[in-house]
Amino acid sequence: MAVPKKKVSPSRRGMRRSHEALKPSAHLECSNCGELKRPHHICSHCGHYDGREVMAADKARGVVRV
Ligand SMILES: [Zn+2]
Repeated sequence: MAVPKKKVSPSRRGMRRSHEALKPSAHLECSNCGELKRPHHICSHCGHYDGREVMAADKARGVVRV
């Protein structure tokens, strides 16, 4: 079994983890109702996607929680 030669110092460990932070999720305004929605997802407020209603507004609200 391969074994690390040296203990990773707190500094090295921190340098490795400097890339692990989570980015805030992207949001766009819905072109139909103006609410914030996730890109490439139907709007959770009005159920529209790509300029047309894909799902009833009250039903869409239960599916996507933003
Ligand atoms: Zn909308």
